[in-house]
Amino acid sequence: MSQTIENPTTQYYNSEFPSQTQEPPALQGNMDPLPNSGEESYVGSGRLKGRKALVTGGDSGIGRATAIAFAREGADVAINYLPVEEEDALEVKQLIEAEGRKANLIPGDLSDEAFCKDLVDQAYNSLGGLDTLALIAGKQQAVQSITDLTTEQLRKTFEINVFSLFWVVKAALPYLPAGASIMTTSSVEGYNPNPLLLDYASTKRAIIGFTQGLAKQLAAKGIRVNSVAPGPIWTPLQISGGQPSQNIPKFGESTPPTPLKRAGQPVEVASTYVYLASQDASYVTGQVYGVTGGIPTA
Ligand code: NAD
Ligand code: MG
Repeated sequence: MSQTIENPTTQYYNSEFPSQTQEPPALQGNMDPLPNSGEESYVGSGRLKGRKALVTGGDSGIGRATAIAFAREGADVAINYLPVEEEDALEVKQLIEAEGRKANLIPGDLSDEAFCKDLVDQAYNSLGGLDTLALIAGKQQAVQSITDLTTEQLRKTFEINVFSLFWVVKAALPYLPAGASIMTTSSVEGYNPNPLLLDYASTKRAIIGFTQGLAKQLAAKGIRVNSVAPGPIWTPLQISGGQPSQNIPKFGESTPPTPLKRAGQPVEVASTYVYLASQDASYVTGQVYGVTGGIPTA
């Protein structure tokens, strides 16, 4: 985040990335360079004062940047992640608490319907209410050919990326007041699928349909539903099988090519979730906001 005018092509890391791989879901703390989730830079201005937010995938990447931004805008935050990501999650907790906000850590697996219900109940009870859902968790594993795509991967990708949205929203609806905001996370892959990401891209397309339909369903209750569609962002997802490892050095420059010629950083995506969560977006529902480095989302 910058308060002064800057050239976006050089504002964030724009060199080759060192080759690296980790087992999924990967730890942000072990990446080189560290992704920028706004830890040092995001400055809030009270846009989410008193709000109570659940952020899935809140330990790392885009979810971490969103959780930090929400807290700096005045929200109390519950974050969900997988138990093996505790190390990343503890850092986020510290950063949120440093703002004087509540940070509740609720680890668990979103591919489990019973856990999704439990997660929402725990978030509601620990925050003393719930009015903002930033559904950011996701699974992405590149596979060369449909013939190599296992049914296990196909099921898990759909369960985590799509089914969990149904399960979390169903559980949360009784708690959400008028004025609440639900945000999903789609992708440029939902518009122009990379052939290596057939299952993932299909889930991202489904998320767009879910967002647009749910927005119509919930409008009368005064609940807005929107989606953020990121382009290539430097996060643990990408270095743990989300891309073939040979694509990592030029990730976001030429694999895939972006007009801005670099990968985005998670902090650059967070302020779109802040906007969509806030009352500034009172007339915005059923929309998909691209944060893509210039890749078209239509
Ligand atoms: P990330 O690895 O930091 O975040 C993904 C998170 O998903 C993980 O931290 C993990 O906590 C969570 N997760 C995965 N499986 C889970 C499970 N079974 N149960 C609970 N949580 C689980 O990477 P990111 O890139 O910040 O990803 C966040 C979202 O952004 C994802 O939905 C991803 O599809 C989307 N996205 C990312 C990019 C990109 O280039 N990084 C581009 C478009 C969309
Ligand atoms: Mg993570």
